[in-house]
This record gives sequence, C-alpha cells and structure tokens, in this order.
Amino acid sequence: MIDEVNKKVLLAEDNLVNQKVASLLLQQLGLTVDVAENGGKAVQLAEHNSYAVILMDCQMPEMDGFEATKAIRRLEALTGAYTPIIAVTALAMVGDRERCIAVGMDDYISKPIDRQVLKIKLNHWTQREFIMRNQELSRKYSLVPDALAGSEEPINLSELEEFYVNDVEDVLAAFIQSTESLLGDINVAVRERKDVSLSHLAHELKGSSAAVGAKQMAKLALYLERAAGIKDWTEARDTYLALVNTFDGVQRFLRENSTALVQQPTFLITGD
Ligand code: MN
Repeated sequence: MIDEVNKKVLLAEDNLVNQKVASLLLQQLGLTVDVAENGGKAVQLAEHNSYAVILMDCQMPEMDGFEATKAIRRLEALTGAYTPIIAVTALAMVGDRERCIAVGMDDYISKPIDRQVLKIKLNHWTQREFIMRNQELSRKYSLVPDALAGSEEPINLSELEEFYVNDVEDVLAAFIQSTESLLGDINVAVRERKDVSLSHLAHELKGSSAAVGAKQMAKLALYLERAAGIKDWTEARDTYLALVNTFDGVQRFLRENSTALVQQPTFLITGD
C-alpha cells in the first residue's frame, strides 16, 4: 500500500497511551514510526527526515499541532518538499476541519483512531504521493519535450486567422483578457486552497485555451484541474506557475506574429 521507498511515518502525540495505541496500529500496517511528544519535536524531526505521512495531534503542550503544521509548511516552502499531514484530534466540533486545512493540513481523523479509517486515509495520502510522482515523470518525459518541440506553436494562429478572419483580433483580445482574469483568480484559489473553485477555474481555462488552439495551456489547465481534484497544493502551485509562463509565451508569440495584438501584458504575476 505504501511507497516502498518511504514507509516511515511521523506521529506527533503527547499522550503516552495514545502514542502507544497509534504506534501499534501503524506498525501493524507495516510502517515504521517516529514519535514526537510535542509540536517543536515534530517540526525538528520533519525537517531532518522524509516521511510518507505525518499524523499530527492538534492539542499538544508547548507547540500545538496547528503551529507545528504552519512551521513545517514554512520549511517546505524553502525546500519544495511536501508531506501530507493528517490532523488527529479529540475535538469533533464543526469548523475543526476547516481550521486544520487552513493551517496547511491535508486531512482529518478523530480520536479514538479507528483502524479502518486510518488505513483508508493512509492509503489515500500515500497513493496520492505516488500518483504525483508518476505525473511528474510523465511531465518530464512527454510534456516538456512537447513544449520544446519547435514545430508546435504556443497558439494556433494560422488556424484562428483562417477561421475567424476579421474577428481574430476580438477573439484573441477576449482570450487574453479572460485568461488574465482566470489566472488572477487561480492564484488566489491556490493560495487559499479552495479546491472546488480552483477546479472550476481550471476547467474554464482548459476550455478557452483549447478553443483558441493554445494546446500547451489546455494541457496544463487539465493538470491543474486534476491537482485541485486531489487537493495537491504543491502540484497546483507548480502548474499555476507553468501556466503563467506558458501564457507569457503565447502573448509573446502573438506580439511577434500577429498584427491583431500589439498591446503589452497588463498584469504582473508574483507567484509564490
Ligand atoms: Mn494531545
């Protein structure tokens, strides 16, 4: 079930009994467990080890699970790594899940931990890692060469001119305007981790890009839609940045090849 390379899980939990119970459950599932008894320890271990998943108790002394998650995500922002973090909490109040997601956790499991639920969640989050790695590989070996192949233009201008004749200027202006607006909204959705709206926005961009023959953009928008579907925020951010670059290339291409558009890009992107 879990990636063969990394069967190590970090369990951040202050209660000794819960530590024992959860460790045993994880070991029964074939995993190796590192235990941190507070948030500070968890951050330290996460910084120096690679884990398949982190199980994070929300209530811990000194540094709680929310603060620890924020610290881990800050560290990851520097390294580009991403470890799924599953919140473990006794609180069952509405809004807990939102709070967990808001600080950068990926999922939520309530105490006492149900063995079956734990298994399903671990499966989901480790498979997700596996899927993303595969996607990265396929991108390295198929998507990038595609993009670099000089034969493929970033947008099918000749076809557009043939099809729209005198309206090509309007079509391209509408495409550029809507893409600028969509990319702005996508940036916000990625930052705020709004998977549903991100999925809609990516879907829309995929459609409009395909409509004007901006194939690379349509492809990236599809990847973004998929990333939103599985809430992979690292993938979503990377794909967003790739979209910004590709859109830049489309605009450059149009400025150089189309008499219809001479305007400069009107918005600057600060991706982070
Ligand atoms: Mn606790």
